[in-house]
Amino acid sequence: MAEEQEHRYDPATIEKKWQERWDADLKLYAAEPASSNKPKYYVLEMLPYPSGQLHMGHVRNYAIGDALARQMWMRGFNVLHPMGWDAFGLPAENAALKNNTPPRQWTLGNIAAMKRQMQRIGYSYDWATEVTTCLPDYYRWNQWFFLRMYEKGLVYRKKSKVNWCPECATVLANEQVVDGCCWRHEDTKVELRDLEQWFLRITAYAQELLDGLAKLDGWPEKVRTMQRNWIGRSEGTEVDFGVEGSAEKIRVFTTRVDTIFGATSVQLAPEHPMVADFAATDAKLKAEVAKLADEQKRAKEAGDIGAIEKHGVPTGRFAINPYNGERVPIWVANYILMDYGTGAIMSVPAHDERDFEFATKYGIEIRRVIAPADPQTAEPELPFTVEDGVLINSGEYNGKTCAEATELLQKAAVRGAFGEAKVIFRLKDWGVSRQRYWGTPIPMIHCERDGLVPVPDNQLPVILPENIEITQQGGSPLGRVPEFVNVACPKCGGPARRETDTMDTFVDSSWYFYRYTDAKNSSAPFDSAIVNYWFPIDQYIGGVEHAILHLIYSRFWTKVMRDRGMVKNDEPATRLFTQGMVIKDGAKMSKSKGNVVSPDDMVASYGADATRMYALFASPPDRDLDWQEDGVAGVSRFLGRVWRMVAKYAPVARHAAGEANDAPTTAQSAALRRKLHQTIAKITHDFEGRWHFNTCVAAIMELVNDLQAADAHLAAGEVPASVIREILTTLVLLLAPFAPFLAAELWEELGGEGVVLRAPWPKSDPGLAKEDEIEIPVQINGKLISVVCVPADADAKAIETAALADEKVRARCAGKTVAKVIVVPGRAVNLVVK
Ligand SMILES: [Zn+2]
Ligand SMILES: [Zn+2]
Repeated sequence: MAEEQEHRYDPATIEKKWQERWDADLKLYAAEPASSNKPKYYVLEMLPYPSGQLHMGHVRNYAIGDALARQMWMRGFNVLHPMGWDAFGLPAENAALKNNTPPRQWTLGNIAAMKRQMQRIGYSYDWATEVTTCLPDYYRWNQWFFLRMYEKGLVYRKKSKVNWCPECATVLANEQVVDGCCWRHEDTKVELRDLEQWFLRITAYAQELLDGLAKLDGWPEKVRTMQRNWIGRSEGTEVDFGVEGSAEKIRVFTTRVDTIFGATSVQLAPEHPMVADFAATDAKLKAEVAKLADEQKRAKEAGDIGAIEKHGVPTGRFAINPYNGERVPIWVANYILMDYGTGAIMSVPAHDERDFEFATKYGIEIRRVIAPADPQTAEPELPFTVEDGVLINSGEYNGKTCAEATELLQKAAVRGAFGEAKVIFRLKDWGVSRQRYWGTPIPMIHCERDGLVPVPDNQLPVILPENIEITQQGGSPLGRVPEFVNVACPKCGGPARRETDTMDTFVDSSWYFYRYTDAKNSSAPFDSAIVNYWFPIDQYIGGVEHAILHLIYSRFWTKVMRDRGMVKNDEPATRLFTQGMVIKDGAKMSKSKGNVVSPDDMVASYGADATRMYALFASPPDRDLDWQEDGVAGVSRFLGRVWRMVAKYAPVARHAAGEANDAPTTAQSAALRRKLHQTIAKITHDFEGRWHFNTCVAAIMELVNDLQAADAHLAAGEVPASVIREILTTLVLLLAPFAPFLAAELWEELGGEGVVLRAPWPKSDPGLAKEDEIEIPVQINGKLISVVCVPADADAKAIETAALADEKVRARCAGKTVAKVIVVPGRAVNLVVK
């Protein structure tokens, strides 16, 4: 019993001891300066929002990055592994409303709590480079970047739609709109209102953002596909239709100009400027258009414009097809969007699904102008949407292929000055205005005399006032702080007003990872020389929910900085890894479902090592992980076995320090070393990109099983002390990325040199890892034909495969049928061939 007590694995004591040592060692996780002669490695996990509590998704995300960082340190790299806080955002304002706590105080308190949790779990972050986006030393550079973009014409203002709650009399964020209603007024429909907003011209980089995806082969294909779709490039043609009885023209965008002789109407968005003209003198049309506009608005609010029930109304006016002078009716339709293309289309019902549906409903002519390329083909059903047909009913273009006709029609449009080839993007400019308090103040001033005046650099940062009253009534909270709003115009010195909008928090996360490299810089966002050493990020790790916004905005930011000469890289990160979710009982952990597992509880019950190792062991990192407390307990028991094993043989191993590993080989020691070197090879390989840490941990478990099974031989001295030492020290090194506390403790116990984090990662000796081979005779119909070599422990299937692959055997079997294969494992193979 006394011995049992003594040999009890006690993670709380071990982890406390090492946490204190690590906290005191400020250099431990610090990156070396750019002058280091080691190769650099920048590993980064996405920074969290400081809600106040780590959740299991965080624990897993950071355990993946931490294992990688630790292994890269052991491999001799100069590792940068930082952490920070995406600290602006709405929840702080909501908490302020609820608890009457100022957002800053609430946020900084949460950061302190989460930092303690991270330290308790033992993540290897260099806290000297910590970035907190809600502090002026960071957000002043958001303002600085905003001004630089403004100078470049990348910032502009325009009217744009916002969610508006008439009850709150304020703008709502998208996440505050629940089923089309206000989150605080469940029965109040949210309206879309036009408001002057600030935009960043991300579309200036649309083509480059798209092209760059082809080179990002270290990113998951699904992320690249999502970005491609989000950017949404379409090649097509813009064509001006005349308007009968008017000098005006309607410019339409089409991806199928080859079908233009089949255009039997032109359709306008309800907000198309020409519609207002038509309706000005037609009260009935005006009312009908208003109804269409309303239907479109509601579909947009519901978030699915694609599912809108299509309605339209003829204007009574006619458009003129510039290619053949044909007169076609002009309609207004609720599914045409003013902010896509030109807000006007030509409708070709015979060759487009949507146009066909609309024309059928309203009895608009359907005219076939594309036939199958092969004239033998039966007349196809409509709509016939192929792009490799030939033109019919298209005048001089009859008989041309779709591709030929497209080119000729585009040339004709340019010649006739009524159109041109055009590429359009689905990607919209980035609206960064928020009528919110807890964000970066936009550094602009409105002067009655001078209009918009940028805040001069020497007046940055524009400090967000603290301790203001947050009511969420009537516009931006900053608008009610006269000391903030009223300012002297930097140009004329007269009275002026500060902009009261704050920036979207995606601005904060668009460049934070550059700041880590030079976090204390007070004269620039960062020193380019330092950034150019560390960038691009070698491995970025985060949730797939950031596949679009964060990862497109930060790619855009990088390109803007590159064009200013601040950075050399085109893309922020070479490799991206998106981990799966942590679920419980088949559902995502959430308070409302009551299935949240607290990391603190797990760490208190089983230790940080077991908790984080389980997060890596329970499932491949890219898959969802179904949290099972039994599993954590199992990992904890396993670590206990390792601890006892090492404790038992540490005196022998220590004694063998410095001894050459050349004792006579015994069967036992050869088998153990083979297993050891196979395990090294497997884990090393997995760290190079596959990241199946679950099978890595399983391999370590197998190694420990083999070691325990050989316990009697070890105790009997049948395995040389030098081999015991090799096995135990290597086992500890292999564990170090996954269970850093226990590894540190055992490293010390084995008398290892220095800290385990800087101990060299073990190398697999292929000679030692190789399986013993045995020779197996192969007989065909009772006659010895060949002998094959297979691993000693090969199973029947492997032996059969080896036998059938043998040259001589194949020659004998050629043209015949192998009727039967009889394998006697370890002895012989007999084939019955007919
Ligand atoms: Zn409301
Ligand atoms: Zn002025």
